[in-house]
Amino acid sequence: MAVKLLVPGATIGILGGGQLGRMTALAAARLGFRCHIFATEPDSPAGQVCDQVSVAHYLDEEALDRFAASVDVATFEFENIPAEGVLRVAASTTVLPRPEILEISQDRLREKDFLRTIDIPTTAYREIADATALTRAMRDFGFPAVLKSVRMGYDGKGQVTLTPETKPADAWRQMGGEIGILEAYVDFACEISVIVARGRSGAWATYPPVENQHSHHILDTTIAPARIAPEIAMRAEAIARHIAEKLDLVGVLAVEMFVTPKGDVLVNELAPRPHNPGHWTIDACATSQFEQLVRAICGLPLGSVEHHSDAVMKNLIGHDVEKWREALTEPLTKVHLYGKRQIQPGRKMGHVTRLFPHR
Ligand code: AMP
Repeated sequence: MAVKLLVPGATIGILGGGQLGRMTALAAARLGFRCHIFATEPDSPAGQVCDQVSVAHYLDEEALDRFAASVDVATFEFENIPAEGVLRVAASTTVLPRPEILEISQDRLREKDFLRTIDIPTTAYREIADATALTRAMRDFGFPAVLKSVRMGYDGKGQVTLTPETKPADAWRQMGGEIGILEAYVDFACEISVIVARGRSGAWATYPPVENQHSHHILDTTIAPARIAPEIAMRAEAIARHIAEKLDLVGVLAVEMFVTPKGDVLVNELAPRPHNPGHWTIDACATSQFEQLVRAICGLPLGSVEHHSDAVMKNLIGHDVEKWREALTEPLTKVHLYGKRQIQPGRKMGHVTRLFPHR
C-alpha cells in the first residue's frame, strides 16, 4: 500500500471528537505528532487537547476538503460518521483504516455477511425487512432472540430482546431502523474482545483477549486478561488476526466475541478503531492501543503489547464520574476523565484502571 512514511511533526487528522480521539491525540502528541480534530460540536473531548480543530457537519464538503488538505493522514474514532464524509476526505488524503472497512462495520448485515464469507463463526442471523418478515423469523428462530437495527447501533441502541410475549409490530417500532437483523440469542459463558494492530508492512501486534461485563448494554467493566482457557484465547486471537488480514487493515481493529459454555467462539461485532475494552492498555501495556494506531497509520514499527500488570478497567458512566476524587487516593488506580461538562445518564464520562502488577 502506498502510504507515505510519516515522521514526528506530521499532522494526523481524526474524524470524530470523542474520548477515543482524545486518547489517540494524547498518544500522538507523546510521539511528537500533531492532530487536527474534525468534530461536530465545539469543546469536544478530543478538540480540548488539540490546537487544530474543525467544527462542522460530517457532510460539509468545504470543511472536509480544508481538513483533508491540512493533514498528512486521516483516521476516524467513531463508527457512525457518514461514509460519504470519510470518502470525501479519502479523495484527497490517505484515510486509514481504509474507508471500505468502516462501511462494513457500519452495517451489521454487511459485517456478518463478510464474516460468513471468510468462515468466521457468528450466531445465526437473518435480514428483516418489515414486521411481517419479523413474525415469520420469530417462529423460525425461537426465543429469546435479538432484533437489532442494521445501522447506527451501538451501546445497545436500536436493540430489542424478543420473548414469546413480544408483539412483532411493537418490537419493529422499538428497534427504530429501516432494516433489521434478527439474531439467535447466545447464552454465552462470557463476552471477550481482542484488539489487533496491523502495520502497513503487514506486521502484527495482538493484545490478549479481555473479558467484558455490560450493564444496560453499555460496557461497565473489562477484566484483562480474560479468565479463559489458553486454547480459547489462542483461537480468539487467531480469529481477530484472520479478520484483520482479510480486511487488509492498517490500523487497529477490535473484535467482540461471545464464548459459549461449550467453548465455541462466535464473533458479535467489529470496530476498526481503538475500543473501550482496550483502555487498560494505556496503563498496563508497553504500548497502548492508541499508540499502536498512531504507529500503524504513520508507517512506523508497531510496539510491544507486553503487559506488566493485569488490570480491571471500570467505566465512569453518568454520575459515577463523581467518584474520581476517591479513585485518585487508590495507589494503583489510574483515573482518566474525558472533559465532558454535561453529566448525562448512560454517558461515558471517564474510566479508571486498577492495576495488579506482575511481581
Ligand atoms: P452490540 O450492540 O451488538 O455490541 O450488543 C450489545 C450487547 O448486547 C452485547 O455486548 C451483548 O451483551 C448483548 N448481545 C448482543 N447480541 C446478542 C446476542 N445475539 N445474544 C446475546 N446477547 C447479545
